[in-house]
Amino acid sequence: MSQDIDGEHSKPRHGCGIMGVCFWPWSKPEEPEEERTANPVPAAACHTRHKSQIVKTLPVVTPLTPAPHNMVRFVCMSDTHNGTKKLPHPVPDGDVLLHAGDFTQRGTIAEARQFNDWLGTLPHPHKVVISGNHEVLLDQVACYTHKAADPLTVLRNATYLQDSSVTIYGIKIYGAPWTPEYHVMAFNLPRGKSLQHKWQIIPTDTDILMTHEPPLGHGDLTWREQRVGCVDLLAAVQTRIKPAYHVFGHIHEGYGMTTDGTTVFVNASTCDVTYEPVNPPVVFDMPLPEGYTKLRRDSVSSAT
Ligand code: 5GP
Ligand code: MN
Ligand code: MN
Repeated sequence: MSQDIDGEHSKPRHGCGIMGVCFWPWSKPEEPEEERTANPVPAAACHTRHKSQIVKTLPVVTPLTPAPHNMVRFVCMSDTHNGTKKLPHPVPDGDVLLHAGDFTQRGTIAEARQFNDWLGTLPHPHKVVISGNHEVLLDQVACYTHKAADPLTVLRNATYLQDSSVTIYGIKIYGAPWTPEYHVMAFNLPRGKSLQHKWQIIPTDTDILMTHEPPLGHGDLTWREQRVGCVDLLAAVQTRIKPAYHVFGHIHEGYGMTTDGTTVFVNASTCDVTYEPVNPPVVFDMPLPEGYTKLRRDSVSSAT
């Protein structure tokens, strides 16, 4: 399903145009035993496919002035894990708040309602949310003994994306919750074909991609120094989708911004590896596509 907010004009694609300067060689990471056996990270495959990758780290800056009228400001968060009441940093104002999943800890409806109430206190005219592996309440497979909750009912203060898109001010945002099996939770799939299929259905005209999972090599380095991002997600992003921005979370230690020269990768994890919500939101501005104005906030339409 695709939704369109603030008009239905066709829009140009947006490139970040940032040149990469350093190289991250694809080397086979040391994997913990459980990932070599039950859930292997396909490092050999990425080594074959990419001899070297450009990975340039970008600074995370919080702007002190509002976005200019011809720019759309995105404020990115992820992995808040019920911590929104104890955020040490203010959430900057902006046009669109993006949350890349893991807003709950145990995946209960009560936690999701609390998150939704917090969203309701924020000033952003648009809020876009996806699930992470903790959002058991929204995954019918994880909720095998009862019916999954309806995101339209629980997350009334947001646009919820699940293998679907929304277009805001002419900027197309696509969201997908899937992560590789690790500790079996919500929206988990085996690496390989199952995950590949989820990335294959992402439209090529996506401007901002939201996934809970990082791509391999960007914001995916764990505290054990293993890169656990998805190689097939990276391949889809780099060879086909080429979004201006890819926003994700899941690997809390990977918080920050990088680029390969085409796409800016944002790991917006608010929580650190001890589940403390210490990291500030990540902010970026995109040019408002021609023919759009930020005043038209009320036209929402849906399409397939
Ligand atoms: P969460 O439980 O919030 O989804 O993930 C929290 C932490 O678990 C991450 O910051 C990371 O340290 C670890 N983690 C999550 N997924 C994986 C994975 O696929 N492999 C490894 N080694 N660690 C993971
Ligand atoms: Mn998390
Ligand atoms: Mn997660």
